[in-house]
Amino acid sequence: MTAYDPDNIFAKILRGEIPSTRVYEDDETLAFMDIMPRSDGHLLVIPKTPCRNLLDASPEQLASVMTTVQKLARAVVKAFDADGVTVQQFNEAAGGQEVFHLHFHILPRYEGVSVRPPGNMGDFDLIAEHAEKIKGALG
Ligand code: AMP
Repeated sequence: MTAYDPDNIFAKILRGEIPSTRVYEDDETLAFMDIMPRSDGHLLVIPKTPCRNLLDASPEQLASVMTTVQKLARAVVKAFDADGVTVQQFNEAAGGQEVFHLHFHILPRYEGVSVRPPGNMGDFDLIAEHAEKIKGALG
């Protein structure tokens, strides 16, 4: 497998070199809003330490990331009064991965409502509003 690239966009977000709308962080993980949200409240959870994806992640990275995924999944359901939540994760280009730092997508879902198509930039003010709602639900 290709080596981890320390200049991938999420590594830059972790180092604060490019902006992000953060909603939660602890010693091991960070959660921030996806800039192309496929549903209102779409966010990403990543480990703070380097790994490309599920295939090279350590058990410790997975344990901490999944704990944060559950925390944020519960928070978005509460914040958006969602009927459910989709957690998505892609591995390598053939598996649909575009950014090569392990990340889990969290998408609030509603009965009978499809997610929006990929690749559309979100409205930054609206994303910031949604981030505040999620932070409020985290307590
Ligand atoms: P994938 O690797 O297929 O899971 O897709 C990468 C995801 O990262 C997409 O949903 C993008 O919208 C999202 N993304 C890309 N750049 C940024 C960024 N600078 N801030 C937040 N999300 C991003």
